[in-house]
Amino acid sequence: MKEFDYIIVGGGCAGLSLAYELEINEKLKNKTLAIIEPRTEYKKDKTWSFWKVASHNFDDCVKKNWENFSVNMPKKTNHLECNIYPYQSIDSGLFYEKINNKLKENDNIYLFKDISEINSKNSFVFNSVPSIKKDHRNLWQHFCGVEVETQSDFFDDEIFNLMDFDCDQRESVHFFYTLPYSKTTALIETTWLSKMNDNSKKDYDNQIKDYIENHLNLKNYKITYKEEGAIPLFYPTYEETKNKINIGTAGGMTRLSTGYTFLNIQEHSKYICENIENISKTKKYKISSKYQFLDEIFLRVLEKHPEKMPDIFFKMFKASPKTVIKFLSNKSNFFEDLSIIFKMPKITFIKALFY
Ligand SMILES: Cc1cc2nc3c(=O)[nH]c(=O)nc-3n(C[C@H](O)[C@H](O)[C@H](O)COP(=O)(O)OP(=O)(O)OC[C@H]3O[C@@H](n4cnc5c(N)ncnc54)[C@H](O)[C@@H]3O)c2cc1C
Repeated sequence: MKEFDYIIVGGGCAGLSLAYELEINEKLKNKTLAIIEPRTEYKKDKTWSFWKVASHNFDDCVKKNWENFSVNMPKKTNHLECNIYPYQSIDSGLFYEKINNKLKENDNIYLFKDISEINSKNSFVFNSVPSIKKDHRNLWQHFCGVEVETQSDFFDDEIFNLMDFDCDQRESVHFFYTLPYSKTTALIETTWLSKMNDNSKKDYDNQIKDYIENHLNLKNYKITYKEEGAIPLFYPTYEETKNKINIGTAGGMTRLSTGYTFLNIQEHSKYICENIENISKTKKYKISSKYQFLDEIFLRVLEKHPEKMPDIFFKMFKASPKTVIKFLSNKSNFFEDLSIIFKMPKITFIKALFY
């Protein structure tokens, strides 16, 4: 069986981002790479959005940039500006196409459906397939979104809505998220933070229909695309293995308080690429432990007091938008962290230290 210098297990966001980074930096001229990916075809299956706090390779896959956003509670709205760090949405269909076209140019890159097709004994492995055991104590961010199209102008495409808590909470944390791509098209998503121990919150179609028709008051529309997913708000655990690095969700690249992962994946890919010649001796890349600690406390509060979360999120966005964005995107300094922490209900958070 054929052997390779590098193997990437999983050709999704993290696997393809890493392969692309290695390829454009000419790290695969004299090295071979096998990508293991079971899917038979690539098509748009996700919309990756984030505040652009760092550069990345996929500006040409961006569907839309926004410089304004809002956060809503029942009877309260906060309008915020994000022109310093615009919010971007990447179309996964364009992303897959761009990367796969580039990778085809290099004869040292091979694609396989299953790792059993190759000899992986002597290769360095980058694994993006998480091993997640079912545990009823774990929190998830689970969601379903639809892209809708209207016949006449309906949306204000200058501003997106990050969180609208003016909806049924069902003893969990629930909000809607609306990305207006144009005056006639938008992605509308229902998002839950819950333990997903039953399917009671997964009547997504009804939730979305009710929100569109009775909350947004949009009656004439058609659904053109749908995406559904669940992001683990906990870190998968692995034994440290020589010659293997986990990447993507499997590699702990998700920010647990927000689910944001895409830009962390890009930064991790750059780090691996810069150190590829000496990768087995390179220090493991991690989201800074200060965010892991703060997110853990935040999620403890969320678990214990889901009813307080709309207000907590709303208060967080009372800080300067630049500070909140940097905090949520792992780029804040000590003083910016403090200014967010001071917006939080102190007693609730101090108690959470001892749960
Ligand atoms: C619907 C959705 C929307 C999201 N939106 C955002 C967002 O807006 N912003 C953000 O920052 N993050 C978002 N995320 C979170 C995160 O960015 C994505 O989950 C991202 O795709 C994670 O990349 P990954 O490579 O770790 O996993 P994936 O992209 O899921 O890639 C894993 C790959 O492994 C393959 N695979 C599975 N089993 C095997 C196997 N046995 N052997 C080999 N390959 C296998 C899969 O087919 C897949 O291609 C979203 C997640 C989902 C599910």
